[in-house]
Amino acid sequence: MYREKFELAGSTAVVTGGARGIGLAGAEALAEYGAKIVLCDYNADNLAAGRAALAAKGYEADTLFLDVTKPDDVRRAADDLNAQGNGVDILIANAGIALPDTPGEDMPDADWLRVIDINLNGVFWCCREFGRHMLARGRGSIVTIGSMSGLISNKPQRQVHYNASKAAVHHMTRSLAGEWAARGVRVNSIAPTYIDTPMSSPGFTNPAMFPVWMDSTPMHRVGRPDEIAAVILFLASAASSVMTGAVVQADAGYTIW
Ligand code: NDP
Repeated sequence: MYREKFELAGSTAVVTGGARGIGLAGAEALAEYGAKIVLCDYNADNLAAGRAALAAKGYEADTLFLDVTKPDDVRRAADDLNAQGNGVDILIANAGIALPDTPGEDMPDADWLRVIDINLNGVFWCCREFGRHMLARGRGSIVTIGSMSGLISNKPQRQVHYNASKAAVHHMTRSLAGEWAARGVRVNSIAPTYIDTPMSSPGFTNPAMFPVWMDSTPMHRVGRPDEIAAVILFLASAASSVMTGAVVQADAGYTIW
């Protein structure tokens, strides 16, 4: 009975920023439980590499070039993918970026706008467009990738744009979850700690940063993409059928202290 709750055979999952890192690991987890995968990303080379990595593990995936900051492109992608088969059942709104340490008082307009555009606007465009089709069918599960940075302010690096974008993702998730809860569409978020992907791994060898990160982390370690992928699988599947509007902390305890 409980194994069945994770089963995704017959469903289709779209993963944004799915070419590598947490998105790619999440796609693998969903594929292992039978979902048909559509990897979306705005880096064509990485997309091809991501598909090849899944193929090497025995999973097929479709790929779609998609920049989540372009609402018209997101709408077209959602309309096209929902016109195929039984439509899209699962959205993992994962695409995001972080930029290097920047004091708030020196924040360039362009950096602020870029981070908000990808991390917040892009997640919203995807939720809105894929969510509309899910609401029409009366079922669907959306997982947004937030961050512990939406719950705490990281140290020592200064990244007000990133932290603000992730706090907004969490609250957007709760807001949409409330609107859609009675209409069959669940919306949940994950707040990871530092994860070993190209986004964070440069910091692991930074002597001014990494010791501070580890001192602040009760488990004294970073996370792996597969550890977030397991939470993605749980939230995307019927294993979490009574959950909506949750922000699941997968943070090695960081937010305890
Ligand atoms: P990665 O940089 O490894 O992967 C992110 C992917 O998203 C990349 O392939 C990137 O392409 C792509 N992407 C960026 N912008 C866009 C866009 N506009 N449209 C489509 N795709 C885009 O990062 P992670 O896997 O580490 O991060 C995934 C998510 O997890 C992000 O939202 C991040 O904020 C969040 N997160 C990550 C943590 C970490 O420590 N790694 C901690 C907490 C949260 P390209 O490489 O070309 O930029």
